Amino acid sequence: MFESLSDRLHDVFKQLRGHGRLTEENIQEALREVRMALLEADVNFKVAKEFVATVAEKAIGQEVVGSLAPGQQVVKVVHDQLVELLGGQTATLDLSGRQPVVIMMVGLQGSGKTTTSGKLAKMLQGKGRKPYLVPADVYRPAAIEQLTILGQSLGVGVHPSATDQDPVAICRQAVHAAQSGGYDTLIIDTAGRLHVDQELMAELGRIKDAVQPAEILFVADAMTGQDAVTVAEKFNLDLAISGVILTKMDGDARGGAALSIKKVTQRPIKFVGMGEGLDALEPFHPDRVASRILG
Ligand code: GDP
Repeated sequence: MFESLSDRLHDVFKQLRGHGRLTEENIQEALREVRMALLEADVNFKVAKEFVATVAEKAIGQEVVGSLAPGQQVVKVVHDQLVELLGGQTATLDLSGRQPVVIMMVGLQGSGKTTTSGKLAKMLQGKGRKPYLVPADVYRPAAIEQLTILGQSLGVGVHPSATDQDPVAICRQAVHAAQSGGYDTLIIDTAGRLHVDQELMAELGRIKDAVQPAEILFVADAMTGQDAVTVAEKFNLDLAISGVILTKMDGDARGGAALSIKKVTQRPIKFVGMGEGLDALEPFHPDRVASRILG
């Protein structure tokens, strides 16, 4: 996670700290390198440009120039801006609404929606909630089966969806089934396609209208970098997502999606997937991630 960016920034700041005093030119030069490092990490072009401009304004404005340990101060400004870029505060789920609360998982096929639905069920179960998994991808029988097996392994209820049913009807019925079964949280695993497709978006919109979810979580494969950001923008435009879960962060050495998605969509990353196992879902802490990037 973020290895290459971390290495690059480490080199830039090592050089900067080497200067006893810093001129504005030293800082500008270091920030050019920071911008290159961000672009190499596949950060959105505009995001990288704005990031460096803000750091320059703060670092130079704070009279870092000529101060004691100026390199350290520039690192502090970069750290604070990274925290901001990654979303500021740790974002949590808002499950305070009327029960059963609905969480809708959306995203492209292969992004990790089904696995993440299972992971989320396990996490919520650990917090004393009673989740109910709802397979709503009727186009791929394997998806229903996959979620059913996950639910069974967790001892979590799974709605008996069938491929000949309408996904909106499934979700409506699932809400009633959850009510009578004593479940407090529905996790709906919706269908995904290989690409964004208006028919799918319309179906997701109908499900949203029917079940009024408290959370619509956009699940994206972090390794797809800027593509994940572009797709997130489309889903947000059509569905007004409430947050993002970035999966496969364990295999993402660059981190471009994580560093761009909040700024571009204005929606926070709520969790990250760190592996295939059902325990590998973690809250996303912008401050810890920034500290990790800056080593
Ligand atoms: P869906 O089509 O969106 O439902 O995607 P799946 O849940 O079937 O996941 C697709 C593949 O990604 C599976 O092989 C998962 O095991 C894998 N996967 C999901 N999340 C993660 C993760 O956080 N890390 C890793 N390494 N693999 C993941």
